[in-house]
Amino acid sequence: MIIDLRSDTFTKPTSAMKEFMFNAEVGDDVFNEDPTVNALQDYCAELFGMEAGLYCSSGTQTNQIAIGVHTKPGDEVICSNLAHIYIYEGGGIALNSGCSMALLEGDHGRITADAIRNAINPDDIHRPISSLVCIEDTVNKGGGACYDLEEIKKISALCKEKGLAFHCDGARIFNALVAKNISPKEYGQYFDSISICLSKGLGAPVGSILIGRRDFIKKAIRRRKSMGGGMRQAGIIAAAGLFALKNNVERLKIDHEKAQVIADKLVQLSWVKSVMPVETNIVIFTVADGLTSDEMVQKLAKQDIKCFTFGPDKIRMVTHLDLTDDHYNELLKRLSSVQ
Ligand SMILES: *Cc1c(COP(=O)(O)O)cnc(C)c1O
Repeated sequence: MIIDLRSDTFTKPTSAMKEFMFNAEVGDDVFNEDPTVNALQDYCAELFGMEAGLYCSSGTQTNQIAIGVHTKPGDEVICSNLAHIYIYEGGGIALNSGCSMALLEGDHGRITADAIRNAINPDDIHRPISSLVCIEDTVNKGGGACYDLEEIKKISALCKEKGLAFHCDGARIFNALVAKNISPKEYGQYFDSISICLSKGLGAPVGSILIGRRDFIKKAIRRRKSMGGGMRQAGIIAAAGLFALKNNVERLKIDHEKAQVIADKLVQLSWVKSVMPVETNIVIFTVADGLTSDEMVQKLAKQDIKCFTFGPDKIRMVTHLDLTDDHYNELLKRLSSVQ
């Protein structure tokens, strides 16, 4: 039995999801005529109390589109030094939007309104124009850490006061909402835009959604087109997203509980030095002194436990809906036998 903890993207559509996709009504979405894409966009926007949504191919695409619409070339984007938009999007901010970045040190990737206030440039011709704040919720590199709503309220108020846009990279936003017991509507009101992955813990095979105000989404559609992101009968894949949103949100708490138990197990092992606090479905741990994450990942692979290194001495494990109870119980057994 192979236990795959590399990412919550390694899930496969269930037969119920495939059945739903098979029966989806479709049309040409570039002409706005795909009823399933429209239903998914409307459903998601409404859920968060936003005016409109846009279905895109990936979370990188939704983030890059949002950044491009909120900024002009030469502007500066404020975010955490652990942000996906900075580390993992192929330099897209420079390539697609021509922006520089002000990188903040946060608490497991969570940045504060106070730190952001200090990073907003004054109106001085020497300095780039600060036009956008991006937070990530949950923070991937921060071990799945999520924000307190109180801090988000402060950041949102600060952005309004200073005239900056506020975007959330919500690739795993439902993990955060479930963990913090916050409703999407309550959360949505604080942001100008949110990008949401359907192909992570929610279990759809592909797709992300960008939500925001109608005028923002209108510009986003143009930008998506220019990035080659206009899709035709996309309802066939959008259906999976709709199915995922309606069936796989509440169960995320099961993934969170499993992640916590895995962390509790890891911390007892001699080859583990420490484990980051677990808040959602991501477990990041540091290997004991003298070991490297590469060699431990290889040893785990010999026991058919798949995971990724996350730096020279760090390893990441992610729980998800294809990690069955059998996988999970077997994992807890096998971890003890790794030396
Ligand atoms: C996965 C992820 C994305 C988007 O990734 P894609 O692979 O392009 O869908 C964006 N932000 C975070 C924090 C992520 O974990």
